Amino acid sequence: MSSRDGSIVEVALPLPMRRAFNYRLDGPVPPAGTRVRVPFRNRTVVGWVVGPGSEVPGLRDVVSVLDREPSVGTELWQLAQWIAKYYVVPLGVVLRAMLPARMANPAAREPAPARRAVVRVARPVGTLEELDRIFGRARRQREAYEQLVGAGGSQALAALLEGGFSRGVVGGLEKKGLVRVAKEVFVRDPFRDRAVEAEPTHAPTTAQRRVLARLDAARGEGGGAFLLHGVTGSGKTLVYIELIRRVLAQGGDAVVLVPEIALTPQTVNRFRQAFGDLVALLHSGLSDGERHDAWRQLRSGGKRIAVGARSAVFAPVSALGAIVVDEEHDGSYKQSEAPRYGARDVAVVRARRTGAVCVLGSATPSLESWMNARSGKYVLLELPDRVGGGVLPGVRVVDLRVRPPEEPPAAAGRRPAPDGAPVPPQPPVRILSPLLADAVRQRLSRREQTILLLNRRGYATFALCECCGAVGECVDCSVSMTLHRARRRMICHHCGHTEDPPSRCPRCGSREMTYRGLGTEQVERVLVESFPGGRVARMDVDTTRGKWSHRDILERVRKGEVDILLGTQMIAKGLDFPRVTLVGVINADTGLHLPDFRSCERTFQLLSQVAGRAGRGSLPGEVVIQTYVPDHYVVRAAVAHDYRGFVERELGARTDPPYPPHLRMARILLSSPVQADAMAAAESLGEWLRERSTRGVEVLGPAPAPIERLHARFRWHVLLRGSAPGVGRTLRAVAGGFTARGSDVRVSLDRDPLHLM
Ligand code: ADP
Ligand code: ZN
Ligand code: ZN
Repeated sequence: MSSRDGSIVEVALPLPMRRAFNYRLDGPVPPAGTRVRVPFRNRTVVGWVVGPGSEVPGLRDVVSVLDREPSVGTELWQLAQWIAKYYVVPLGVVLRAMLPARMANPAAREPAPARRAVVRVARPVGTLEELDRIFGRARRQREAYEQLVGAGGSQALAALLEGGFSRGVVGGLEKKGLVRVAKEVFVRDPFRDRAVEAEPTHAPTTAQRRVLARLDAARGEGGGAFLLHGVTGSGKTLVYIELIRRVLAQGGDAVVLVPEIALTPQTVNRFRQAFGDLVALLHSGLSDGERHDAWRQLRSGGKRIAVGARSAVFAPVSALGAIVVDEEHDGSYKQSEAPRYGARDVAVVRARRTGAVCVLGSATPSLESWMNARSGKYVLLELPDRVGGGVLPGVRVVDLRVRPPEEPPAAAGRRPAPDGAPVPPQPPVRILSPLLADAVRQRLSRREQTILLLNRRGYATFALCECCGAVGECVDCSVSMTLHRARRRMICHHCGHTEDPPSRCPRCGSREMTYRGLGTEQVERVLVESFPGGRVARMDVDTTRGKWSHRDILERVRKGEVDILLGTQMIAKGLDFPRVTLVGVINADTGLHLPDFRSCERTFQLLSQVAGRAGRGSLPGEVVIQTYVPDHYVVRAAVAHDYRGFVERELGARTDPPYPPHLRMARILLSSPVQADAMAAAESLGEWLRERSTRGVEVLGPAPAPIERLHARFRWHVLLRGSAPGVGRTLRAVAGGFTARGSDVRVSLDRDPLHLM
């Protein structure tokens, strides 16, 4: 609606409210996607123009129009609308997730590019005689000038000053008209100082060429989605790189999604080595300014390949030719807060809309992608063998249930070794079985490396009262507190709440407290005690808080400064170290018995991925898996490297009751600080749904969520199960028509949920 005096615009706001917001604007309606600042209640927020709005009572004015052009091009604008509709989330919330954080921040002024003073040679001096004549006795000026010429004609002023030249010297050069000092835009790029490690480059193998030929053909025919199932070490990265090389050669751009940049420095390094300055890395450690710069460069075409985690799927490249989703099964591709999108699925949709090729790569594809490949929605491409005739490592299982035979007393004590040195103690057999301990020892003596996985951090995962059986829980969550010995604190891994370790049982007052549930911190201690002289590095959330700490640890492993790398799941992904010949899984069962239908799939993926780190070079690899359930199909399939066998079994297990990928699900979570209100809201939602026709959709619950309390909120959920259109329709009906009563009740919708915890 518009008139001579102005117009009314509809604005998408990044607020969790499912209604339209209209404002009056002095002027014509700006193009859809243009940012505006508007009043909302008693504050100002940034939103995006959707289009002409409608007259409603109490209209307020747009404060200002922020940009001359829309924040996103047509393609991303339409993708945002698709996401908003599919995931049933307000458009403004989607746009905020798509764009650099600054752009949705009302306090951030026009996001100014960073500038710095640069000294540039303004007049070249040709001959030595001329130099002598111009500089005479101004020796420092001459040196500064020569340094500038040597540096390619320009240098940051700060660098010159740091190099020992005074401002006066630079001023002298300016006066002579030899240099000019000006503020110039500079691009913040934290990776610039991190050198690319030169790795040998390879020509594609026959198998890789076959895959590339299929992708080439598809690019000529309007794109398509491909599932690249390649065993660990089969050379998937080279396929991605060669694909992108061809896309670039034809003027196209590309997006590469990796689970987490910090965890995949080698993969990232390979892209940087292949494409240099054309790569923009979207790293979680970037500052807002750096992120914004990277985004701008992608938008302007200065960079043509975006490499990053989940949100890189929204990279504003203009001529999308290919999207790669590496380790497509990885859980990090699903965002756990609104908008709860799955980047893998969004990648497929974005590629389809732009005619790009989408490659989902994994050694252990998600069951969803596998079904899509089977039904023909995706094309299945396979790399069945390791590159260069390498074989997958042999896997042995240690049954933790069986009491191991008594150790011969001589080996268990501190019997002096022949050279008189005391023999280190044997590690506790449930932490490191004799078999695994021996295997580690062999690696140490051969100067090979070992990776040990335990997917639980901290020292002990719970404190147990031996008198009454009470387990210490977080005050805000129904989750046990983990002992962190180095910090001498009990910590809740869900909300971060910390406490002193209890000296008495809070329930019965007894002092008989024991700490159970093995964590990485404890294993580290055992390793250090059992293998004196072995250099151990631990990699988990607690040791990798710094921006570059992942990279620094992995760098030490690569240089051979670490003998044993111990860690949580973060060491299972993408690492490619040729001297790692042993992988040990301390306890394979940590994730197996969780009340979540994907617990078997996740465990299989984790075991297969970590096993795949062994024997990737010319040295053969070996894997030892310790478990209490050696006959479980997950363990058996992992031992046999039998992805297909696992999938068949798992698909069967999900038929009755039916779970994805046989059908679709959604989860509606209702939470409140008041237990009764969370429950009442869930019950009223249950009734509300049953009163309506939810054709093709089964409503499960309400029931308390497996984690009943989190961040001091009680949680109930209702699950929907059915066809994709049915689930979508039902969710939209809930969003549009159901209101929860009660104190501070929040309703969150999660379509295609990853966790039901
Ligand atoms: P994946 O991601 O499939 O586990 P990578 O892409 O890391 O495997 O490749 C495994 C190893 O094989 C890497 O060290 C890589 O450099 C090497 N490689 C890949 N392709 C070739 C090739 N065509 N010729 C020789 N080596 C290769
Ligand atoms: Zn007690
Ligand atoms: Zn907590």
